[in-house]
Amino acid sequence: MIERIEQLRTQAEGEISRADSSEALEELRVRHLGRRAELPQMLREVAGLAVKERAAVGQAANAARQALETMIQARVAQLAGEELEASLRADRVDVTLPGAPPQTIGRLHVLTATRRELEDIFLGLGFTVMEGPEVETVHYNFDALNHSPTHPARARTDTFYVEGPPGGSDLVLRTHTSPMQVRAMEAHPPPLYVVIPGRVYRPDSDATHTPQFHQIEGLAVDEDITLADLKGTLLEFARAVFGDERDVRLRPHFFPFTEPSVEVDVSCFHCDGKGFLRDGARCYLCKGEGWLEVLGAGEVDPNVYSHVPTTERNAPGYDPEKIQGFAWGLGVERIAMLKHGIPDLRLYYENDLRFLEQF
Ligand SMILES: [Zn+2]
Repeated sequence: MIERIEQLRTQAEGEISRADSSEALEELRVRHLGRRAELPQMLREVAGLAVKERAAVGQAANAARQALETMIQARVAQLAGEELEASLRADRVDVTLPGAPPQTIGRLHVLTATRRELEDIFLGLGFTVMEGPEVETVHYNFDALNHSPTHPARARTDTFYVEGPPGGSDLVLRTHTSPMQVRAMEAHPPPLYVVIPGRVYRPDSDATHTPQFHQIEGLAVDEDITLADLKGTLLEFARAVFGDERDVRLRPHFFPFTEPSVEVDVSCFHCDGKGFLRDGARCYLCKGEGWLEVLGAGEVDPNVYSHVPTTERNAPGYDPEKIQGFAWGLGVERIAMLKHGIPDLRLYYENDLRFLEQF
């Protein structure tokens, strides 16, 4: 019997030392030390043995059982440590490391970023932001803005016309954001300070014109508004965009819906308004002029107010005897081109990441 005990012990020890998981060890424990295993069975039978055998067999069986239990316990602890280590290695998170930045991160398109920057500037000056329809009636796009019935901008070569409902008014893709001047006044009583960003459309396509582009309209209507208020507002805008040293100048111009009308120039930020660079070369940005044309503006023509019917919403209405206003329209693409030195308008729309990622 003692020989059998030693045999069982040797076999079990071999198996335990080769076990490579906690599950396998538990299985071995049941097989060798469990209720129905041979070794415990022998221990239970010790009482029935002859007295001279009893002590020796009992001792050997007990020693074997204890040795196996100790061995299993040690092996369980060892394997548990190894398994924990492996699982920690597999999905280790070192919370003390700085976060890994995402490999690719999106950015705003340069036109969106520029539009938002301009909106922020005018918000800071007390203007609110409004938006309007891109498909517009001829009434708001031309008639209410004082365009004569024969104005060339109405030609089908200069404006995209859209088929409207039968018997309805003529529709166009708006050629400027200015139609929102009358719409904004219809919706709000004076005083009114509003900027209107948005897409506009004209059938032009070359390095400085695309069929779709973006404008920001500005309109201020209040009492005692003069051209000086316009100039002050645009000076603030020019300095916010192009630098604190900038100056603006107004040149007489003509627009149907402003009187007087002006073209607004900002002193060139590249040559500091000198027209030439430090090495004496002519400034390429302003072409030696020292000034950059940035937008068109003017005092709102009193005729425009006559197209704003007084309603409950805009009471007491827009009486040109009591109120004045100024308006401007600027091209978002043009501002971004000047600011970033972009040579060709079409680059904005080609979606070439080598271009877009620079901004
Ligand atoms: Zn210059």
